[in-house]
Amino acid sequence: MVTQQHVETRVEAIVRKIRARGQRLTPQRLTVLRALVSSPHHPSADHIYREVAPTFPMMSPATVYKTIEVLKDLGEILELEFRDSANRYDANIPQPHPHVICTQCGRIQDLEVGDMDGLIATVAARTGYYRVRPRLDFYGLCPSCQSAREAHAHASGQPGQ
Ligand SMILES: [Zn+2]
Repeated sequence: MVTQQHVETRVEAIVRKIRARGQRLTPQRLTVLRALVSSPHHPSADHIYREVAPTFPMMSPATVYKTIEVLKDLGEILELEFRDSANRYDANIPQPHPHVICTQCGRIQDLEVGDMDGLIATVAARTGYYRVRPRLDFYGLCPSCQSAREAHAHASGQPGQ
């Protein structure tokens, strides 16, 4: 759940970090940052560009990529890479965490699971690996794609009935 209060607190904290590094924050970048933080949908860079473009028609997609790079440098954004589609971003929870992904519409949702830290500790203990971090994705058909599929099946009818 992304509340307005959470968005403002998080944007302010990130802005402070950027300024502390002596980096510039243009109004365009600030708007990109706010769009990233306020989206619960794990947007792609293109989603963000299309959201911000009406406010800054002269802005180029490079501004979105540069802002994402700054956030990556600060460790304030989680980048989700996919083999056959664009990277998606989570600027709300920058630590690796599990997601549920719809195979039809590509929607990505956060998933609260039990003891993630315990699982990481178990993996480290059993394998001797250091700096273990999870990449945990579950795939399925989201509720709205399921209803769309059912509606389609009803509309096309059953042959011979
Ligand atoms: Zn997430």
